[in-house]
Amino acid sequence: MAQASLRPLVAGNWKMNGLKAAAAELEQIVAGAQALAGKADLMICPPATLIASFAAVARGSAVAIGAQDCHAEASGAHTGDLSAEMLADAGASAVIVGHSERRSDHNESDAAVKAKALAARRAGLTAILCIGETHAQRKNNETLAVVARQLAGSLPEGAAGSNIVIAYEPVWAIGTGLTPTPDDVAKVHAFIRQQLRERLGGEGERVRILYGGSVKPENAPQLLKLADVGGALVGGASLKANDFLGIAAVYR
Ligand code: PEP
Repeated sequence: MAQASLRPLVAGNWKMNGLKAAAAELEQIVAGAQALAGKADLMICPPATLIASFAAVARGSAVAIGAQDCHAEASGAHTGDLSAEMLADAGASAVIVGHSERRSDHNESDAAVKAKALAARRAGLTAILCIGETHAQRKNNETLAVVARQLAGSLPEGAAGSNIVIAYEPVWAIGTGLTPTPDDVAKVHAFIRQQLRERLGGEGERVRILYGGSVKPENAPQLLKLADVGGALVGGASLKANDFLGIAAVYR
């Protein structure tokens, strides 16, 4: 089933980019969001240092603020980490978990990602759960098996459309300018939808499935209008308001 009944989400992952002055880009995104007239949800996930100030800028607007990672515990002796409760307290309404850069840079397992998704729910945050295959896995025709394994291991019980978003992000497409063909994206998203139905029953229809990996204003129309593509997780192109809004304009 297509996601026609779900409001799309376009989320920007700023990664380790952005100083206070970048609030000017956010202000432009907040202003541009009005043209969408509620047809899509917009979100910016800045570095944690900017969450509180960005939340203040975006308050009352159509742009939500998210975080990029959280610790599984609510508090404790974990130097340098941030809990989901702290992110919510700072003004975030969502948190990305299991991004491939965290899975590889920090050796995050599916079980660790699942614990973070549960922590997000405990704190009232939506978890944006990232899954996706490497280039080698795609070449070996393992894409669907990898996605199934990651979902089985990292999607928490009781996940629902109100507390989880899936982001399908082929690792080889992130930051490379490469994208799968629209047919390939449609095939993987249909497979993810099927897995969600099997795990969550009817609730599986209410979970948005984003595509992520080198989404730009130029390729957004081909990638984001496909059945079961409920929006985008955008890295590089979310750093510039014009590019981010150009992607979201697909839903106008
Ligand atoms: C990402 O890191 O989540 C991402 C999709 O990056 P990019 O859009 O730059 O490929």
